[in-house]
Amino acid sequence: MIPDNIRDSQWGKKPVRIEGDRLRSIFDPWHPWQFYSPFEFFGRDREESLYMRFAALESNEDIRSFVNDFGFLGLQGISLRKIMIENDAEVEESLTEIKFQISRMHILLGLQQALTEKNLLKAKRSLLSLRSACKGRRRIFISGIIDPDNSHGYDDTIDAEGEWEVVKLDGYHAIVQEISHELQDVHQTLMYDFSTECYKGQWIVPTLLSAMYTMFSLDLQGGKILRKCQNTTCLKYFEVYANDTRKIYHDPSCAALQAQRNYRQKTKKKKEEASQTSSAGED
Ligand SMILES: [Zn+2]
Repeated sequence: MIPDNIRDSQWGKKPVRIEGDRLRSIFDPWHPWQFYSPFEFFGRDREESLYMRFAALESNEDIRSFVNDFGFLGLQGISLRKIMIENDAEVEESLTEIKFQISRMHILLGLQQALTEKNLLKAKRSLLSLRSACKGRRRIFISGIIDPDNSHGYDDTIDAEGEWEVVKLDGYHAIVQEISHELQDVHQTLMYDFSTECYKGQWIVPTLLSAMYTMFSLDLQGGKILRKCQNTTCLKYFEVYANDTRKIYHDPSCAALQAQRNYRQKTKKKKEEASQTSSAGED
C-alpha cells in the first residue's frame, strides 16, 4: 500500500524554543537544518506512526519536543522549504494553530474509530466537536435531522437505524473532506534519471502536516484499524490486529493505571453503598 519511493521525501528540523504563544527556531550556526524523512516513522510494525504520535500531544512541552524532533508543521505553506536552505532565517509557528491541528487530527481519529465500531453516540459527538474545533476556519457539514443545534431540521422521532445512516454519511464525508484538503499539494512528478536511463517517479510532500495526512490517508486505504487507549488520561491511539482484538490499552503501564483507577472507584462505591445501608439501618 505504501508507495516505495515516498520515503525519499525530506523535511527539515532544528532546535526550537517556546516564546509566549509561539514556537521559534533557535539561531545556532552549529545546528543547521537537519534533513530526514517523516516516512521513516510510518508503517513500521507495531510502532506508532508519526501522525498518531502527533494526535496524542498535550502540553506545550510535548509540542515543543515533537517540533524539536520532527520539525515545524509547515503551516506557512510551501515557503518554509525555501527558508530551510538559509541557515540564519528564523522560523516560527503559533502554538494555538498547532493545537488546533492536533485536536482536529485527534477528533478525526476518534470519528473514524466510532464509525468502524458503529458507535452512534460517539460518532455524533465527534462530528459536533469537529465542527466546533473548526469553527471560523472550515465548515463541517452536519445534516439538520441529526444536528441538535439546528432547531428547524432536527428530528427527535428519527429511529436509531435512520440516524445511523445519516451519521455514517456525514461522518465519512467529513473525514474525506478534511484529509483531502490537506492532501491538495501532495503529488507525484516524473523525472528522467540519465545515470540509470530510466524514468522515475518522485513524490512531492510539501509540509510535515501534509506528510502526516498522507500517512493517515494511506492507513485508511489499507484498512488499518486504530483504537484509542482505554486509559482515560491517555490520548494515544494504537493499531488493532486481527489476533489481538481484546487489546484495549496501548501499553501495559496504561492497563495497570486504569485497573488501579477502576479498583479505587469500585471500593469507593462499595464503601458508599455500605455507609448508605448502615445509615439506612439506623433510621
Ligand atoms: Zn495509553
